[in-house]
Amino acid sequence: MYNCVICRYHEIATKGNNRNMFERCLCDNIRHLLKDMKEDIQVRRVRGRVWIEKCDKSVFDSDMLERIKSALSRAFGLESFSPAILLPADMDVIRDTVRGFAKGIFDGYSKGVKFRIRARRSNKRFPLTSKDIEIDLVSLVAQEVGSDLFIIDLDNADITLGIEVRDEFSLIYFDTFEAPGGLPVGSNPRVLTLLSGGIDSPVAAYMIMKRGSATDYVTFHSSPYTPQETVDKVEALAALLNTYQVKGTLHVVNLLPLQKIIRDCCSERMRTVLYRRAMFRIAEKIAEKTNCRALVTGESLGQVASQTVVNLDTINRSTTMLVLRPLIGEDKLDTIAIAEKIGSMELSSVQVPDSCTVFSPSSPSTSVPAALAAKEEEKIENYMQMIDQIVMDAEAVTPQSGWTASLQ
Ligand code: ATP
Ligand code: MG
Repeated sequence: MYNCVICRYHEIATKGNNRNMFERCLCDNIRHLLKDMKEDIQVRRVRGRVWIEKCDKSVFDSDMLERIKSALSRAFGLESFSPAILLPADMDVIRDTVRGFAKGIFDGYSKGVKFRIRARRSNKRFPLTSKDIEIDLVSLVAQEVGSDLFIIDLDNADITLGIEVRDEFSLIYFDTFEAPGGLPVGSNPRVLTLLSGGIDSPVAAYMIMKRGSATDYVTFHSSPYTPQETVDKVEALAALLNTYQVKGTLHVVNLLPLQKIIRDCCSERMRTVLYRRAMFRIAEKIAEKTNCRALVTGESLGQVASQTVVNLDTINRSTTMLVLRPLIGEDKLDTIAIAEKIGSMELSSVQVPDSCTVFSPSSPSTSVPAALAAKEEEKIENYMQMIDQIVMDAEAVTPQSGWTASLQ
């Protein structure tokens, strides 16, 4: 019976002059998420809301509604949405419509179900107030189904019938579904996420996309010391993350040549920090080449030896680019909860060797001063040329999600 899906946003509404840009970006993203049905539907802005309707104004079938629900659950910037019936702003038409489906409202519920009607009226010329509309329609429903079928409960209803009366039209809906919130991806410049196969970095990428930045990814492997699965797993994670944005390229980098030299020339206990500094330098160069304006990592203060304040500082000094660390103060359990919600946990939990563990020291230093790290790097002949060579050898791939299938 629904001929419209009404989408609500919250944070965008607080924007001033550039609100228009955010709204346009949100609509473009919704169109992209619904590209499979682009011939049949239209997405438009109507006074602080986004609407999805069929081009021929007919009702959505249940398959279409399911696809729309699944797409909107990935639309950053949206707070909630409801499949709705779009009607003229005319009380007689509203009454006729409610009369038409009144009996169906309680299908599947037993006697005594808690019911309420919530009306909102932004059209102040409409002859009835919100309260009047609610009272009018509740008595109409009672007439149709009998007043002993339901009890009115304004605070804790099992069924809520929502009505909005606007200037040119009105809307009726039942269900309100949650959307992820945040800002539309693409409303902030593109960034580059250092994506490992772990739990944290996919969540970090998700959180930054939720704040409006589309992301590319860079991953480091140590082939042949790490197997092909190391990269395949990250590619599957990137493909999953890409379902929240239009496009994200994965740069695949073999760090092994540098790791071997670090092993041979530098202090063993500093290896992890030196690997990380090399990763940042390589990532910075890729970001500059590809127009990404910041790096993103899944680092979280104190989580492992390389993430102490001193080591984070030493790692950070290897780049002048902004590094975003959305998980810096996050509890691991909270990060896991997000990973589960977005579906990355299942992939991240599969154990495959990680590039950082290649030649990793049994007792890494938790405090490598930046000056000391720089001194160690001076021992490496042609260090910066090696970095440049590794950047040149990086492979850019469009992530495919095939690895998930091969897991099952
Ligand atoms: P994650 O769960 O994201 O791997 P972690 O808690 O295991 O994080 P580390 O392995 O120390 O922590 O990595 C810290 C951050 O450095 C990661 O979140 C990621 O952004 C980056 N990083 C680490 N290893 C790699 C890699 N092999 N490729 C790309 N980025 C990496
Ligand atoms: Mg890791």
